[in-house]
Amino acid sequence: MAGMDDRTNRPTALYDLSRAGLTERLAGWGYSDYYAGLVWAGLYRDLAAAPEAIAGLRPELAARLAAETVGVLPVRATIDSADGHTRKVLLGLADGAAIETVLMYFRGRATVCISTQVGCAMGCVFCATGQMGFRRHLSPGEIAAQVVHAERALRARGETLRNIVLMGMGEPLHNYEATMAALETVMDHRGLAIGPRFITLSTVGVVPGIRRLTAERRPMRLAVSLHGATDEERARLVPPARRWPLSELMAACRDYTTTLGRRIFFEWTLIDGQNDGPAQAQALGRLLAGMDAHVNLIPLNPTLGYDGRPTAGPAARAFQAVLAGYGLPSTVRQRRGIDVAAGCGQLAVERS
Ligand code: SAH
Ligand code: SF4
Repeated sequence: MAGMDDRTNRPTALYDLSRAGLTERLAGWGYSDYYAGLVWAGLYRDLAAAPEAIAGLRPELAARLAAETVGVLPVRATIDSADGHTRKVLLGLADGAAIETVLMYFRGRATVCISTQVGCAMGCVFCATGQMGFRRHLSPGEIAAQVVHAERALRARGETLRNIVLMGMGEPLHNYEATMAALETVMDHRGLAIGPRFITLSTVGVVPGIRRLTAERRPMRLAVSLHGATDEERARLVPPARRWPLSELMAACRDYTTTLGRRIFFEWTLIDGQNDGPAQAQALGRLLAGMDAHVNLIPLNPTLGYDGRPTAGPAARAFQAVLAGYGLPSTVRQRRGIDVAAGCGQLAVERS
């Protein structure tokens, strides 16, 4: 019998188990860690989609495993962008919900954008996921399954996955444990072996979560969504700004960079006439000056529930020039997959 997840009351899939958890499960059946190693390699190196596809197992173990669910998420729909570089995949979950995963086929640096929750509780006004509200957390296996899906799709094209960005549906630090468990799985060198430098976790600024990442010295890269450089301006776009004011957020970010000796990426959605003027750029410059920081500017992508326009190229470049004056490097993010609503913040699943 498959085990159950205490928190969600759903059956635990093999993808939900850590390497140690798999060892424990197999030990319960009387198999040594050697066999757990075979199963792990079958799941994450050979990408077996069903227990019977795991090669090299003794028949009794294969029979035992046949009762288990791997946790592969079925593809419910696929949409490709017109330029062919972006594929949005709607993956079905066992309870009938669905999540979106976005594959970006940049040759040699293929990237997957994964979700950590169904919906999101944070309510950022311009974000399609925020507009749909919070449904539930994803389990570790549901998060890891998106990465396995990407790697499988890429291998079919003779390529391999390089980058993971946690910028899909949901707030990863609101689902801390499951997110970290999934990242441990995909980083494991005996399986997918995605290096932590190639994983970027993006947060709206959940201060206790950033503090925990620092204390636990988590190795992945961190991106923090700001969008406003004063509490008042930020709170208009990002409601959690009321709970975690900039003074606390920036203190946590500074601790992170100094303790871990690592750069932080700051995200700023550029909204025409809202947060893209020189005064805002200066305020952001003052906020980040002296920090090991890089600013990612994201021209607003349209969503049904927010009536704003993206900042045009010249104004975005002027914003960058102000930041450069404070010694801050920045990038204007290329727009990808807009025609299939797979750009940042556009991931939402229609209510059934
Ligand atoms: N919850 C996390 C990660 C998911 S969103 C976070 O908020 O950081 C990834 C990035 O896309 C965030 O910076 C978010 O603010 C931004 N984003 C959301 N909706 C957007 C939109 N409509 N246009 C541009 N960027 C958007
Ligand atoms: Fe949630 Fe991030 Fe969207 Fe805000 S921007 S609602 S935190 S997914």
